[in-house]
Amino acid sequence: MKRTNRKTRIICTLGPATDSDAMLESLIAAGANVFRLNMSHAKHDWVRDVCARIRRISAEMEEHVAILCDLQGPSIRTGDVDGELVLTKGDLVEFRKADAAPSMELSTTVNYVGLMADVSVGDRLIVDNGNLLMLIKEVNVDRIICEVKTDGTMGSRRHINLPGVRLNLPALTRKDHLDLAVACDCAVDYIAGSFVRDAAHVRELHAAMLEGGGDAQIIAKIEDQEAVRNIDDIIAAADVIMVARGDLGIEVNIEELPILQRKIVQRCLKLGTRVIVATHMLESMISNPLPTRAEVTDVSNAVFEEADSVMLSGETSVGKYPIECVEILDRIARRIERSGGMGYGKDAVLRTERQKTVRSAIQLVDSIPEAQLVVFTRRGYMPVQASLFRPTSNIHAFAANASTCRKVVLARGVTARQIDFGDDLDSLLRKAVAMLKDEGVVRDGTPLVVISDMGQKGEIVDSVLLIHA
Ligand code: PGA
Ligand code: MN
Repeated sequence: MKRTNRKTRIICTLGPATDSDAMLESLIAAGANVFRLNMSHAKHDWVRDVCARIRRISAEMEEHVAILCDLQGPSIRTGDVDGELVLTKGDLVEFRKADAAPSMELSTTVNYVGLMADVSVGDRLIVDNGNLLMLIKEVNVDRIICEVKTDGTMGSRRHINLPGVRLNLPALTRKDHLDLAVACDCAVDYIAGSFVRDAAHVRELHAAMLEGGGDAQIIAKIEDQEAVRNIDDIIAAADVIMVARGDLGIEVNIEELPILQRKIVQRCLKLGTRVIVATHMLESMISNPLPTRAEVTDVSNAVFEEADSVMLSGETSVGKYPIECVEILDRIARRIERSGGMGYGKDAVLRTERQKTVRSAIQLVDSIPEAQLVVFTRRGYMPVQASLFRPTSNIHAFAANASTCRKVVLARGVTARQIDFGDDLDSLLRKAVAMLKDEGVVRDGTPLVVISDMGQKGEIVDSVLLIHA
């Protein structure tokens, strides 16, 4: 088992570039902590197959790698066109309901029948992640007509953004429900909801996941202005927040994006939820072996803000240099972590006695030179909570099963190990210390602050101990 001292977690999106067993192995060896399956593109047979392979390979490598299923969510897409529509500035192009006949040459369908009711003349419409800008000129019952503002081509099933427009789309589409069923079947560890707009959306996804027999944690992707307005409620409802900069960067004025990223990370740490910074972190490495200086600085900002995790999308799903991307993130993260950080964890709101107990353990461990934190956990709560305070020390989590280990891998600074919980706390401690010594992460005499909820005779009693290895 390879242990790095990197705290920031790395999520890799899988795709054609990283589908083979050899690639999965190399990504894990390079430091990938979570594999993301993007349900906008993934076929169900592939999901089942790759989930089984990830489980097998990570078990062979003795690494707790988690699987994240990212649902497409209520996104608006254009329909199928023959080849591509060639659009020139000033052209008029039509987006129509699926059952309406084209009324002009440049015409495509949209998958959302409510679009015409939600938009107004003068709204901006952006196609294909910012590649095509348009202005809505006419709204009819079964179609809208837009003026093209930038030259470009439009292929099939392109994503449409309408910045600032309140859309009455359902939280979960039919496709999301079908995809969710497969995700539950494969017992994935995290399920991400796209275009989450409010806490009710998160709760609906959580309920649907439980109904499907799943046991995953819910990631809420913050992708538009409405989600930003409701951020505190979404943070309270979700297990993890993702700053989905791809869509967010289109839905808000672009110069607001760095400010929003920083505010969301700060808010997550204050209110107690893990946070991922996603999209375009190493975009140029889709085709180049080295990142741009701007990308290195962008990644280092996310690490300095002390986000739990950074995410690779196209870089690892279709890029030419997936392993190099993980290696670069690993190098930047380890270097920047040594240089300090924003310290937002210090402002965490303490609501419960359990949080206060964990906080006192963090103060203890960070006040003793060389001390390390050990956390025994049944369901993964305590290590995640410990991580939210952003201690200087690494957090060694011990859990009774592999699934709990995977639930804590997305928390900054937490490394998870599986251990048999059958014994009393004394022998459990001896075993845990022996494992840490074996791995070389502690030496004889290293001070260890231990958080556990292992009481006497099976009772649950939170406790904090100081021992020496
Ligand atoms: P996506 O989400 O890659 O599924 O669009 C992430 C983002 O928008 O940044
Ligand atoms: Mn998105």
